[in-house]
Amino acid sequence: MPNRRVVLAARPAGKVQAGNFAIEEGPMPVPGDGQLLVENLYLSIDPGVRNLLGAETGYLPPVPIGAGLSGTVLGRVVETRHAGFSAGDLLVGRGTISLFSLITPDGLCWKIDPARVRPLHHALGLLGVPGLTAHVGLLDVARARPGETVLVSGGAGTVGSIAGQIALFKGCRAIGIAGGAEKCRRMVEEFGFDAAVDYRGRNVAELADAIGAACPGGVDVLFDNVGGRVLDAALARMNPGGRVAACGMISQYDGGPAPEMHNLFHIISKSLRIEGFLLFNFVERYPQALAELEAWVAAGEIRLPMDIGEGLEQAVPMFLKLFSGENRGKPIIRLGAAAALEA
Ligand code: NAP
Repeated sequence: MPNRRVVLAARPAGKVQAGNFAIEEGPMPVPGDGQLLVENLYLSIDPGVRNLLGAETGYLPPVPIGAGLSGTVLGRVVETRHAGFSAGDLLVGRGTISLFSLITPDGLCWKIDPARVRPLHHALGLLGVPGLTAHVGLLDVARARPGETVLVSGGAGTVGSIAGQIALFKGCRAIGIAGGAEKCRRMVEEFGFDAAVDYRGRNVAELADAIGAACPGGVDVLFDNVGGRVLDAALARMNPGGRVAACGMISQYDGGPAPEMHNLFHIISKSLRIEGFLLFNFVERYPQALAELEAWVAAGEIRLPMDIGEGLEQAVPMFLKLFSGENRGKPIIRLGAAAALEA
C-alpha cells in the first residue's frame, strides 16, 4: 500500500512558498530496529519546521530534497520494533506530514491515554508540545515568580497565548505583543492578558516606548517567540536581573536580513540572563507540567482555539499562514484515520 506525503520539492530562497512542496505517493515505510510504523490521525503544523528546510541550523538535520516533511504527529502504532510500544498504542511523536510515519521514539514521543486526553487533539495543543513548551519556558527557564511582569512576544499565537495564561495563573502580570489590533484585542479579551502591544508599524524605539507604557514597572521576564526587533525593543525595558526565555525566533525563520540590534548593552548593564531552550531537553519535567496543564484544562481555566484542517492538502496552506500571521488558533490537520476512529 502506498503512503501519501508532503515532500520538500525545492529549498526556499527567502520566503517559503507553496511551490517548495509537493504531495506525492511513496512506498509504505518499513520500521527498523527500535522504530515504529504509525498511522497518523492528526498532524501538527509548526513554524519551527521552517528551520529544517534550508541550511544546517545546529538543531535537527535539514530535510533532504524529495524527502517527507518533518512534523509532530498524533497517531496509532500499526507495527512495532520497539519494546516500549505495542500495536494499537496511541502516541505523539516526531514523524512526517503524511498518512503514515516512521517514528524513532525520543524525547518528543510519548503514549496518549485516550481516557485522559479528551478531545484527543489536545495532545497536539494544550496537553502537547505547545503547552509543555510554554510551561517549561516560563517556569523552568525564565523562572517567573508571582508579582513579576511577564512580557510575551507572539502573544496571540499558540505557545505565546498559553505562556501568557500560565503567567496569570502564577500570579504574574502578563503583557502580550502581537501584530495588529485584532490580535491585541484577542490577547486581552480571550486570553486575559493585562495589556497588549502592537508591534506592526513601529520601529525599535517606538516599540520600546509602547512596551514601557504597558509595563510602567519594567519587564522582569520576556518569553520570546519572535526575536529580531521585538527582542531588541524589549531588552530596553527589562528590569535589572531580568530573564529572557528564548523560545523561538520566527522573525528570522523565513529569510530577510538579520536585524540590526540597538539594545544589547542592556544585557550587561542590567545583568540579564538570556537562555535559549529546546523542549526535548526537559523530558523529566513533562509529568509535573502535564499534570498542572491537565488540571487547568479540566477546570476550564485555560484555552487554546484549534484550527482544524481536513486532509493532507491543507498542510502547506496552513504552514504558510504561520509566516504571514494569518493563522488563528493552533493549526492541525485531521486525517481520514481520525475521522474513522471518532465516528
Ligand atoms: P504561532 O505563534 O501560533 O504562529 C506564528 C506567529 O508568529 C504568527 O501568527 C505571527 O503572529 C508571528 N510572526 C510570523 N512572522 C513574524 C515576524 N516576521 N515577526 C514577528 N512575528 C511574526 O506559532 P507557535 O507554534 O506558537 O510557535 C511560536 C514560537 O515557538 C515559534 O518561534 C516556534 O519555533 C517556537 N517553539 C519553540 C519550541 C522550543 O522547544 N523552543 C517548541 C515549540 C515552538 P503576528 O501576527 O503577531 O505577527
